[in-house]
Amino acid sequence: MSRIAYVNGRYLPHAEAGVSIDDRGFQFADSVYEVCEVIGGKLVDERRHMARLQRSLDRLHMARPVSVKALAVIMRETIRRNRVTDGIVYVQVSRGQMRRDFTFPPEGTQPTLVVTARSNDLAKIEARAAKGIVVVTVPDERWRHVDIKSVSLLPNVLAKQTARDKGAHEAWLVDAKGYVTEGASSTAWIVTRDGILVTRPLAGDILPGVTRSVLLDLIAEQGLRFEERAFTVEEAHAAREAFVTSASQSVMPVTEIDGRPVGNGAPGLTAGALRRDYHSRAEFS
Ligand code: PLP
Repeated sequence: MSRIAYVNGRYLPHAEAGVSIDDRGFQFADSVYEVCEVIGGKLVDERRHMARLQRSLDRLHMARPVSVKALAVIMRETIRRNRVTDGIVYVQVSRGQMRRDFTFPPEGTQPTLVVTARSNDLAKIEARAAKGIVVVTVPDERWRHVDIKSVSLLPNVLAKQTARDKGAHEAWLVDAKGYVTEGASSTAWIVTRDGILVTRPLAGDILPGVTRSVLLDLIAEQGLRFEERAFTVEEAHAAREAFVTSASQSVMPVTEIDGRPVGNGAPGLTAGALRRDYHSRAEFS
């Protein structure tokens, strides 16, 4: 089945869909995005993803391309046209198209909106979760506004490629003081030997993960012990469990960091339980 992409008001075959070479996203990575999970044809945590999209747009003084309501319709139509039952929907908004110039285009320039959707191989993701993933640590070389979900992802690309080259699935980014910030495309978590869940607080140096925020609600609801603080690579090596969260994989156990097994080298019980329970706390719409 051919894939369909939404671009600025039109649904087009994926291969024919495109934006201008003058698009700000292409020229300057002057663009923000969201990735929302789809399960059973429903959007997962749409409200929180749309709130974060609005926040990203506001932080970069970017206009909304269409109303919240219209975007909700477009996302669903893109999911429908691509016959996605379980997968993801991807939304990107750029500052629009203009002859290359660093400063913002004139007021009223139409932002570019692209929406795509694709199916996930759930069996493959479940198999990965059953085995756990391998992580390597790399220096966090990103800019200072990583709390904005922008497509300026070159350091993340390089970190992911380093991970791939080392046979790992994810890279954990490490700040100048030796503390893990987050994954190249996920939030990083550990469970200490004492059974305390730890993840870095929101202080502008990580993306405010939607999965993270839903999981925090679940953790509070279940009365699990939890600390929102930075943790070092050494702490992660000594942890009982580690895992990552993101919209496309919910809770994914980490079984190896920098060639060392985490805990006994098998996916942790806490991560497994949180993975199982995650969607009971998530919002479907
Ligand atoms: N951190 C980074 C750098 C990411 O790119 C992502 C997701 O792509 C996340 C965290 C997890 O965010 P979310 O749970 O909203 O998918």
